[in-house]
Amino acid sequence: MKAEILSILRETEGYISGQQLCKQFQVSRTAVWKVIEQLKEEGYQIEAVRNRGYRLESAPDVMWRAEIESLLTTKWAGCDVLYFPETDSTNTRAKHFGDEGASHGTLVVAEKQTGGKGRRGRRWESPAGSSVYMSILLRPEIQPNQAPMLTLVMAQSVAEAVCTVTGQRAWIKWPNDIVVNGKKVCGILTEMSTEIQWINHVVIGVGINVNTESFPEELAKTATSLYLENGKRWRRAPLIAEVMKQFERYYDLFIQTGDLSGILNEYNALLVNQGREVRVLEPGHEYNGHAVGINETGELLIHTADGRIRKVYAGEVSVRGIYGYV
Ligand code: ATP
Repeated sequence: MKAEILSILRETEGYISGQQLCKQFQVSRTAVWKVIEQLKEEGYQIEAVRNRGYRLESAPDVMWRAEIESLLTTKWAGCDVLYFPETDSTNTRAKHFGDEGASHGTLVVAEKQTGGKGRRGRRWESPAGSSVYMSILLRPEIQPNQAPMLTLVMAQSVAEAVCTVTGQRAWIKWPNDIVVNGKKVCGILTEMSTEIQWINHVVIGVGINVNTESFPEELAKTATSLYLENGKRWRRAPLIAEVMKQFERYYDLFIQTGDLSGILNEYNALLVNQGREVRVLEPGHEYNGHAVGINETGELLIHTADGRIRKVYAGEVSVRGIYGYV
């Protein structure tokens, strides 16, 4: 009921009467009053005026279940929100829930990660209070070799959500990073649990630096936050809700086509590497070329000096700008 009351308070211009809320939820006035008092204690500013009712003045920057659920407009993405003030890694948690039978679309969110993960065993810096750490659990009926494309589906969703919520242009650094002004604001990590032929579940983890004010020295050159780039602080729950909205749309398109053909043009339009000279770092082999764009299966096409077009498969590869990160 808490999430629903919050939704109604948000949608109502002006005041909603206590009586209307009682009627809607078939509960007593005291029950409604208790929820309102609880919300106030949690940091929501709610004005209560005799004979008029309640009005939401402001909401705190929290990522609790009720707050996120009250903002979601999706059918299945984020259908169940599990919030943790602190966890090792939201991906690890989501995988655990996946093994226990949690449903497609379950979203795990944490305020802080003590063991945030990047690709290939790298670390994701995850302090409390300023960022989004979330993982969505999926049960797609696709072949295991199609699953890496989901990273690109999420990258597209995050880039668009950032732009919609903050007005800030965000770009995709193939395959799994989102960059603003040439620095990384978001990383994406896809992990899956498979049998030989089929997928048990896929988990896509997303870390977004939202209001981060500074980074450890070793990251400061390549990492940034939305706050550092545009000087404004953003509430994180609306950003999460927008990512879920975009992801649901693009994911459904991906499942329909079985590849990225439905989002190819949009993805390439946001690809920061496109048309630039890049350095491809494959294990034991490095080369330069011009990034052309991705194909339907999410490989990056590189035009090399010998006139060939090489396809780069995301797995073990890193792509860098020739003068730095982008
Ligand atoms: P590559 O460019 O080699 O493909 P990557 O960008 O894909 O690497 P990830 O595995 O996605 O790397 O993310 C881990 C890396 O991101 C870390 O090694 C570190 O350099 C950087 N990093 C860690 N925490 C943060 C953060 N909060 N914000 C931005 N960058 C971070």
